Amino acid sequence: MSSRVTRREVLHTAGLAAASALLGGRAVPAAFADPPPAAQPDAPRRPVLRIAHLTDTHVQPERKAAEGLAACLRHVQNQPDKPDLVLTGGDLVMDSFEATFDRTKLQWELFTRIFKDECGLPVEHCLGNHDIWGWNKSKSGATGDEPQYGKKWALEVLGLEAPYRSFDRAGWHFIVLDSVSPKDDGYIGQLDEAQMEWLRADLARLPAGTPALVVSHIPILAACVLSDPKGAAEKEGEWRVSGSLMLTNGRKIRTLFAERGNVKLCLSGHIHLVDRVDYAGVSYVCDGAVSARWWRGPYYECREGYGRIDLYADGAWEHRYVPYEWEAEKEA
Ligand SMILES: [Zn+2]
Repeated sequence: MSSRVTRREVLHTAGLAAASALLGGRAVPAAFADPPPAAQPDAPRRPVLRIAHLTDTHVQPERKAAEGLAACLRHVQNQPDKPDLVLTGGDLVMDSFEATFDRTKLQWELFTRIFKDECGLPVEHCLGNHDIWGWNKSKSGATGDEPQYGKKWALEVLGLEAPYRSFDRAGWHFIVLDSVSPKDDGYIGQLDEAQMEWLRADLARLPAGTPALVVSHIPILAACVLSDPKGAAEKEGEWRVSGSLMLTNGRKIRTLFAERGNVKLCLSGHIHLVDRVDYAGVSYVCDGAVSARWWRGPYYECREGYGRIDLYADGAWEHRYVPYEWEAEKEA
């Protein structure tokens, strides 16, 4: 991921430089030079933070979804080198976008209970399209005047002040985006202007050497959208990708990231497939789905799982998609 210089090499070089300085910059006679370091294996490099990224949990009373999420959280925490932090990736509940008040209430109660009972790690949540209540007014029966309408319900349940924010941990800067914007009775993937301004300002405040990780529900850039037969397809000799699958102002965002240079890794969900795109110095990982095919077994190549990410002090990172033990309920 990055060229590695061992501590011993650094010390050795520093030692030579010091000796050289003492001798007024003259070449160091062989007898005064440090002996060459004995061959020793490098000490294993330790991450400064280990993360579990759980996206698309789609909790609902049916299809043993609650048991599935509990099994996933247990898997995360039973690792010998368990993560320090859980990041969620949105679509926390099965759906509230088109659901009635009562159905939405039931799903949030279930979600909250599982996290309370099963998760002993700190959690930072991200919102997905299915976590927005009632934007489809005809199906949900919402009027738009309810205090819980739209993103407010999820924010209240999750204890968040705003749908996007940033925070710092272990020398890394974390940016959680709100990637869902309204369009008619539905949505598109987009950061609105106010959020773009906020993102610009947030990155501008960041010291040059501070690495940043971005979480969004809808991918900023992903190749798997072309592989998902549900939303994108090769039609009449052209590739057409729905604006609901990938951020429609992704190019602007990627240009901003390239200008600032801090962002190393962007995590997303939404597609329920796993891929990684390296583009213009930033890596974009679409991280599968805890629920795989909405708790109906694997979704194409993607099994029920979560992302495990190790972050290093120098901005390097490692990602792995980790399937957990789970058997979906048999289809009737
Ligand atoms: Zn989803």
